[in-house]
Order: sequence, then C-alpha cells, then structure tokens
Amino acid sequence: MSDLITVQGVVLSSMPVGEYDKRIVLLTRERGKISAFAKGARRPNNPFMAAASPFVFGSFSLYEGRSSYNLNHAEITHHFTELAALQPGIYYGYYFLELLDYFGREGLDQTQEMNLLYVTVKALLNPSIDDRLIRCVFELRLLVTEGLMPEMEQCMSCGCDVTEESTVWFSLRENGILCGRCHENDPQAVRISAQTLYAMRWIAAVPLGKLYTFTLKEEYLQELWSVVVPYTGKNTDRPLKSLEILEMMVS
Ligand SMILES: [Zn+2]
Repeated sequence: MSDLITVQGVVLSSMPVGEYDKRIVLLTRERGKISAFAKGARRPNNPFMAAASPFVFGSFSLYEGRSSYNLNHAEITHHFTELAALQPGIYYGYYFLELLDYFGREGLDQTQEMNLLYVTVKALLNPSIDDRLIRCVFELRLLVTEGLMPEMEQCMSCGCDVTEESTVWFSLRENGILCGRCHENDPQAVRISAQTLYAMRWIAAVPLGKLYTFTLKEEYLQELWSVVVPYTGKNTDRPLKSLEILEMMVS
C-alpha cells in the first residue's frame, strides 16, 4: 500500500495523457516541485477537471507511487479563472509559471515561490499596475529568492558604498553595480539612476504583501527593464517557450 499525503501547492502546468487523464506539475510547500497523475481529469464532470489546471492554488492529497504521485483529492483555495480572459496578462502568467518550473526542485520548500506567484497574479489582475513593471518585479524577486541576488550596495570593482550616489552603472558581467570611477571597467555596463537602484533594493527586500505597492516613472521603469530582463536571461540557460510567446504577443 502506498501512503496518502497532503500538500499545499499550486499547479504550474497540466499535460494531457492518453484520452482521459492529465499529468500535472505542482509547486508545493512540503515536497517542492513534483509531478502527479490526475486520473480522469479530462472526463466531463470529473472532480479533477477544474483542479488539474494552471494557476490553481489549493491542498492536494496524493498517493505516493513508485515513480510518481497519483492525485486522490484536491481542495481548491484560489483558481484565478479571470486571468484567462486577460490579454496580455495571461501570457505573463504562463511565463511566470514556466520560470517557477525552471527554478523549482523536488524536496525544496517552495512556500516563498508560491506566495510570490500569488501576489503577482493579483497584480496582473489589477489594471492600474503596468505589466512590464510586474515582469521586472517578479523576475528580480524570484532570482533573489533563488539565491541569485545581484550586488546593489557596493561597487563590484572598488567596494565603495554607492548609497549616496545619484547615478550608478549595472554590470551584467560583474553581477552588480559599479561606481562612477569604475564603470568603464565594463563598457557594457548600463547607467541607472538612484531611483532605479532604490526600486531594485525594495523589490529584493520588502515583505511580499508590499511588493506591488509602488509605481515607477517611465524612465525608471525602462532602466529597471534594461537591468532585470538581461539579468534574468543570464541566469536561465535555455530559452523559455512561454517567454517567446509572451514577446510575440506584446510586440
Ligand atoms: Zn568603484
């Protein structure tokens, strides 16, 4: 007999298997990233039909099999069905799920990542928050959560404190900032203002509940984008399909 376990998690993806079933990938508090077989999930009126779908948060009871988990029962707490109708919000959403899948590992507590996704989907549903800002915030905070925080306090070259400087440079090569005296060490370093650097520190450190409670003027948003998007690209070693689709949809 296999054991029945209950995990708190969110469905990252759902693939049809055979005629009536699905295989889902879950990000969970208790077991990290796992996949589970949802028998009958594609049959009309099957109880798993709604639960075995992306963006479903809930509690999932699973039988632990030899090579996979089998879904036994699901209790949905949040589904975010309204996201599906949002353009281009839904494409941002799928990209965020794939990025979580990319960094997710079995056996690692994914509570921070689940909570980050939760507040981020809420932000996508809020029409007053710019989707480009949401993408920058999500990417940077996720990288910080995964232990990939860039240096944002001291110059990577001379070690000076840049907190008081009005302009700094971000070096992708050095994974952090350079001061006015050192920025020519990396000709590709991107010039950013103190406001943008302040926003980056905020995104890295603020409690998740406050993550989306600020706005940025267009020029600072563009600076943030010019740092975060390439930094995320550097920290992912293959192209993500959902990102290609998102970029097609917003271009
Ligand atoms: Zn320096």
